[in-house]
Amino acid sequence: MRPVRRGPSPLSRDFDDYKDAKAELVSRLGPYCSYCERRIATGLEVEHIQPKSLAAYSALIGSWGNFLLACLNCNRTKRDKEVALAEFLLPDRDNTFAAYQYAADGKVTAGAGLTGRQRQMAQATLGLVGLDKPVEKFEDSNGKMVALDRVAQRMQVWGIAESAKVDVEASPGVEAVRRNVVRTALAEGYFSVWMTVFAGDAEMRERLVDGFSGTRESGCFAVGTAAVVQPAPNPDGLANGGKA
Ligand SMILES: [Zn+2]
Repeated sequence: MRPVRRGPSPLSRDFDDYKDAKAELVSRLGPYCSYCERRIATGLEVEHIQPKSLAAYSALIGSWGNFLLACLNCNRTKRDKEVALAEFLLPDRDNTFAAYQYAADGKVTAGAGLTGRQRQMAQATLGLVGLDKPVEKFEDSNGKMVALDRVAQRMQVWGIAESAKVDVEASPGVEAVRRNVVRTALAEGYFSVWMTVFAGDAEMRERLVDGFSGTRESGCFAVGTAAVVQPAPNPDGLANGGKA
């Protein structure tokens, strides 16, 4: 899950209509779901971390610090569940890249290096948005892959990233091939899949961290090596930040 920095609010007060924050959020974070990392060309939604429909959080309905971006699937699964900030790992305040591991079969699981408490929080976040759901049927009657859900689409992009890696390895020192990988990654989304497939290529990881808006700004990757920085430095000083 890509860690991001939203940065300071563009307004000196809360948003009258939270939907007005969407353009600024997309500009700062890129057109991706903050949870499942899919690129959503249209229909990306302004997501309230603490749900707007719960009375306890109604004061946060227009609050910039409570916004992320979400796809319809993640947003609908999350619905009006209560989100106590101390109990979940969140991409705007924790190093959610370090907190998860991604695999070729589309599965997202809690990262190996977490403490028991962090693991609990990582798991809670997966359940919150349904990223722990198994893959649904994804083959047509001819056995051809049809990627309809978030898991199958993640598998599909894994394959694209693997083939991009073959191109990079076959073309050492060719700048255009590396630039093209970043363009493809930005078009396909799933930042963590690309970072995992290119785990052994620090230079390519640097390009990915710089390519996806709001990622470098999170401070969760060291400049020059893209090594994971843990816990998240939480540069905006958000409440309950830096838990991982
Ligand atoms: Zn999503």
